Amino acid sequence: MILKALFAQLFTRPVTNRFPAKYMPRSVTGFLAKVAEGKAKLTPPVPVPPGFRGKLVYDREKCIGCQLCLRVCPAQVIMFKPEDKKIRMHIARCTFCAQCVDVCPVDALAVSDDFLLADYDRFSPSLIVE
Ligand code: SF4
Ligand code: SF4
Repeated sequence: MILKALFAQLFTRPVTNRFPAKYMPRSVTGFLAKVAEGKAKLTPPVPVPPGFRGKLVYDREKCIGCQLCLRVCPAQVIMFKPEDKKIRMHIARCTFCAQCVDVCPVDALAVSDDFLLADYDRFSPSLIVE
């Protein structure tokens, strides 16, 4: 029985998505540089399901500086900037619970579909939202 299943596997397509490349590149940085130049193609990720909680999006024009989001955040992601009464978020600490989104009275915060957040530097500009 198990041999039959193993043999059948030889003729079935993999269920996993070969993301971001079909084969492991020798250098990921080099591969991404080639993608930017249009010399290599990125295998797209599978679509995220409805209700997915990805990287936070902040509309600073809507923000009224009430600081409710700071109060509910369990991971101390959000800092208040008194000089302009706006916030700064360190996404590297975020647990993506979306409590800040729920509590914001003016809908200045939202979750996005963006999950490509890996970085070598937790203070990278791509991981700071303000
Ligand atoms: S999603 Fe959760 S952890 Fe992330 S900033 Fe909002 S409240 Fe904090
Ligand atoms: S809860 Fe909304 S309005 Fe209040 S500080 Fe946070 S983002 Fe700004």
